[in-house]
Amino acid sequence: MITADRKPFEEIKASVKDYDKIMVLGCETCVAICQAGGEKEAEILASELKLAFGNEGKKVEVNDEHVIRQCDDEFMADPAFLEKVKEADIILSIACGVGVQHACNFFNRTITDKPIRVVPGLNTTFMGANIDVGLWEERCLGCGDCVLERTGGICPITRCAKSLLNGPCGGSSNGKCEINKDTDCAWHLIIERLEVLGELDRIKPVEMYKDWRPSHSGGPRKRVREDLRL
Ligand code: SF4
Ligand code: SF4
Repeated sequence: MITADRKPFEEIKASVKDYDKIMVLGCETCVAICQAGGEKEAEILASELKLAFGNEGKKVEVNDEHVIRQCDDEFMADPAFLEKVKEADIILSIACGVGVQHACNFFNRTITDKPIRVVPGLNTTFMGANIDVGLWEERCLGCGDCVLERTGGICPITRCAKSLLNGPCGGSSNGKCEINKDTDCAWHLIIERLEVLGELDRIKPVEMYKDWRPSHSGGPRKRVREDLRL
């Protein structure tokens, strides 16, 4: 899932302060699960903004809405919802950065008689897993050329501080990373896992380089499924 944190309230408030009709738009998928940008968070943020502007004597209309996913046209295409978007002066999206961009693009493609302004309420952080209650940790950089079959299902690109393909480096100590002593050395974990699996041979051949072309080919990457497009 994609994880995110809410921006500081003062930064959010400053980004919408010049508008009279504000829509706080939540996203009910990744950012709802990490409790940064779902329906509940949209309601809370809308209330906070109403209160803050009210205390300053400013008359502002703040509404909250949510969709299942802001990164997908089909969840935002409801005409009644689009009418509300059109009525707002500004959309404060609390989706991840993908959702903010896609919602902005979709609204401006669909509503043609008025430009729609969309601003972010979250800082998007990483693709990660829920490790414990209230704890998420990065697990994948989307490198486009996965090496997990070689490394016992532990990603050295994301979890090693130096993204080493052949580790550990000389600084690993007592299973901890030299860059951050609170972090497990990814290569220590990889070797432990491969030992248990009886697959240490997998890392014997030295990996000379990583083929970064799938993720660094210039501009945004595309994934095309011709069968679905038909
Ligand atoms: S090797 Fe690449 S695709 Fe596989 S988990 Fe790591 S970053 Fe993600
Ligand atoms: S100590 Fe381990 S995790 Fe840290 S940089 Fe070296 S190999 Fe990578």
